[in-house]
Amino acid sequence: MKKAIKKVLVVNSGSSSLKYQLFDMTTETRLAKGLVERIGAGGPANHAEALKQVVADLGHPKDIDAIGHRVLHGAEVFKDSVKVDAKVLAKLDKLVKFGPLHMPANIGGIRACQQIFKGVPNVAVFDTAFHQTMPDCAAMYAIDPKYYKKMGIRKYGFHGTSHKFVTQAAAAFLKKPVDKVNLVTCHLGNGSSLAAIKGGQVVDTTMGLTPLAGLVMGTRCGDIDAAAVLAIMEAEKKTPAEMDKLLNKQSGLQALSGVPGGDCRDIVAKAEKGDKGAELALEMLGYRTALYIGAYNTIIGGADAIIMTGGIGENSSEARERIIGRLGALGIKLDKKVNAKTRGVVAVLSTKDSKIPVVVLPTNEELMIAKDTVKVLG
Ligand code: AMP
Repeated sequence: MKKAIKKVLVVNSGSSSLKYQLFDMTTETRLAKGLVERIGAGGPANHAEALKQVVADLGHPKDIDAIGHRVLHGAEVFKDSVKVDAKVLAKLDKLVKFGPLHMPANIGGIRACQQIFKGVPNVAVFDTAFHQTMPDCAAMYAIDPKYYKKMGIRKYGFHGTSHKFVTQAAAAFLKKPVDKVNLVTCHLGNGSSLAAIKGGQVVDTTMGLTPLAGLVMGTRCGDIDAAAVLAIMEAEKKTPAEMDKLLNKQSGLQALSGVPGGDCRDIVAKAEKGDKGAELALEMLGYRTALYIGAYNTIIGGADAIIMTGGIGENSSEARERIIGRLGALGIKLDKKVNAKTRGVVAVLSTKDSKIPVVVLPTNEELMIAKDTVKVLG
């Protein structure tokens, strides 16, 4: 008989850090969490060394039943979470081009776990997988199809684990089967994306080939005319790598407000003091998010609920007011009292007479990874 899966370790290996959480899946409770930093930069030499530190931090546990890994990109190869074997690893190695910074670290974390937790099964859970149900009309770019065929250039979408978690949580909240819910899920944090969910499946999302597209984010510009990118490259003789840095690390709320990292709390404080750049940053966040909510509500044929999650969605009443205040045409009115006091807890932000409820549902990507790990191995 198969051994029941009780303890699941969730590993998120980044290029220079490794985050982990340990869950007891009989109760879905977290037993431990931690972070190992400066991998290859003064701290542990590599992910295997980092994991040895995790093992020591956890008190050398002998009872870990499975390990779930966050993996950035599954492209079209992985449409769902998967148990890792030699074939899967070989396929993952071929996807490094889709995430040259993250994928080697993600794969390195899996290999290190195979080495250190001998015989314990590993499951890969992809940020892109939940979005693999998008129809071509949403996923394709209107360029010569040879770039899709040769290079896989299309929209993939990210934060899939979070959108999936809140989709399931929303179905439970609305007391509907998951395959019957229509939602606009808003994951708003340092990185932000929306997903249009029809019958429990993604039909569109705001991020694209990479996490650069869509909403205005902490340091990413989101949607921009590609010709503007070319004009800047040409005028300032920038290389693709320099332009990548400008758009991903030096743009967005940070560029508009002058607040390092584009932290929403600091921008709100700056805007309250009358800073015009900070004010514009918040207005653009509100405007573009509302724009996509309206579009996605149309595409899914009307939402049962609009879900707010992520650091900003769960906590920032100021940002939420600037989004929800723009949704009057959908018959949505903000309950200002509830909005003002809601931080990181389940709450309905819209008034009772609103046509579509706006609901805060705190996300839990790590628990979603642990749940998928149990499901795949089940
Ligand atoms: P995340 O990437 O999901 O961790 O979200 C980070 C963002 O959430 C940052 O812009 C923070 O300023 C914002 N945030 C976190 N906590 C709060 C809070 N209590 N009030 C307003 N914004 C918050």
